[in-house]
Amino acid sequence: MRSAEFMQLLAAIRELNHHQRKQLVSFLDQQADETKVLELIESCFDTKSACPHCASAKLYRNGVVNGLQRYYCQHCHKTFNALTGTPLARLREKTKWLDYLVAMAQSLTVRQSAADTGVHRNTSFRWRHRFLAWISQDRPATLHGITEADETYLLESDKGQRKLSRKARKRGGHATKRGISDEQVCVLVARDRSGQTLDFVTGNGPLTEPQLTAALKPALDAVALLVSDANSTYTAFCQSEGISHEIVNLSQGQRVNGAYHVQNVNAYHSRFKQWLARFHGVATHYLPNYLGWRRAFEQHRQLSPEMLLNAALGNFQYLTVT
Ligand SMILES: [Zn+2]
Repeated sequence: MRSAEFMQLLAAIRELNHHQRKQLVSFLDQQADETKVLELIESCFDTKSACPHCASAKLYRNGVVNGLQRYYCQHCHKTFNALTGTPLARLREKTKWLDYLVAMAQSLTVRQSAADTGVHRNTSFRWRHRFLAWISQDRPATLHGITEADETYLLESDKGQRKLSRKARKRGGHATKRGISDEQVCVLVARDRSGQTLDFVTGNGPLTEPQLTAALKPALDAVALLVSDANSTYTAFCQSEGISHEIVNLSQGQRVNGAYHVQNVNAYHSRFKQWLARFHGVATHYLPNYLGWRRAFEQHRQLSPEMLLNAALGNFQYLTVT
């Protein structure tokens, strides 16, 4: 805009009434948020700079569409932008993303986030899981040295699913069967002494040896020493894989076996469950998203909207640097 036109614009602003002024301020706020979001999105892409279709780095810039740089891939001849191939592709209302991520950094419920951000509840739900879809991939490849493992159980929930395979349970309901049954979902957590943590939703009912093997075998390094309770599944796994193993017999009141215990992993379970309670029961299907979200909080007490946006786009360096 030429400076004369700009002066006219400023003069026109003086004529605005109170309501119009408020509208203008909120419009400028939104513009600022959108600019910030677009910059963050572009900077996430800059670190990768590869075609999402064929991974070629032979790209050239090909115009700007909806505020985002469009690229053309010389190898596969497709065009794309920084969001193509990510869970955020084609998600609308970017002006509200940062506010929404602020709500997520505060662990607000779907309903509260919707109210705070001014989006519909269904949108809030969809956004939440789009923003969380990749966060669970931010996990250590291996755990080192002394590693505690233990499982915890959550009541299975079909929350939000239209077709229930059984009679609906009231919110915060209880299992109808005693003990660990297929009504419960097993969450296995393994944590080494440096605090690196892996979590696994292994399925319904008690943890089995094949499930334990599938989860932990690739994750334990050669000198790992596994510490668990007296559950024979762990013993069987360690014996067949030749992994050093120490047992803490919790059911017999033993809390510590020399230097070995599972208190770090049990504390992790209880922090997770306490945090999860605010959401009033989450659908089992989305449990990995919540585990990933929780892990991000564990790594970074002060999660920022920027970190969450980066994680949503698979750029985890913000989360791993502590
Ligand atoms: Zn390509």
